[in-house]
Amino acid sequence: MTARMANRRDFVHLGALLVGGGVLGACGQARDAEAPRRSAAPVGPVPPTPSIPARWPDLRIDRSLMIPAGRHARHRTRRMRPRYITIHATDNFARGAGARNHALGLNRGSLTATYNSLGYLSWHFTVDDGSIYQSLPCDEQGQHADYEGPGNRLSIGIEMCVNRDGNLSRTLDRTARFTAVLMKEYGIPIQGIVPHYHWPRTRYKDGKHLGHKACPSVLMDGGKPGAKWNAFVAKIARYRAQL
Ligand SMILES: [Zn+2]
Repeated sequence: MTARMANRRDFVHLGALLVGGGVLGACGQARDAEAPRRSAAPVGPVPPTPSIPARWPDLRIDRSLMIPAGRHARHRTRRMRPRYITIHATDNFARGAGARNHALGLNRGSLTATYNSLGYLSWHFTVDDGSIYQSLPCDEQGQHADYEGPGNRLSIGIEMCVNRDGNLSRTLDRTARFTAVLMKEYGIPIQGIVPHYHWPRTRYKDGKHLGHKACPSVLMDGGKPGAKWNAFVAKIARYRAQL
């Protein structure tokens, strides 16, 4: 299997690569914004992974393709106590570009990045219509939102798959429930649920301001958060109330 970067500008748009014949993408990086209130956040160690409630067994997390500790995007580790959850979409509509293939790309170090400090893209979870893969422990920072900004320093990154052979509405519903689970586990309030768009991006390598990214694209209206995003957040809040 070969894998290579197809787009060296990676963080500007998507880090695109080929894995197993399928083009994979991961939305790129996105400076500062105020943090949500921390009063609800638990103290003590940060669990590396959340507990899935028995009522939602389809949210079982597959950890078989975690990025190996000390390698690839985990060659350098920075601890994190998450205060936000950042929602992305892969913008990869290719058949087969589901959660497993993205997790494979991360696991094998295929998602390299030219303009960030790490040399790789990384995020915590990839969700599709039938599976959830974890790639990074929730107590480690990823590189999915805004280079050295708070989006990466303080948020759990979720990539939603949009492959054309998947069921997008199911993926959205599963992501909403899974986000609610993460909120409960890590004491994150609804104000801490943000689209990638939330984080203005200043590129690490040359300090270039890239502005906001229209991500997750499938939940943007006119390239910005609007009615679709608000409805998604409302759905998350309803699920959170069930836990
Ligand atoms: Zn994104």
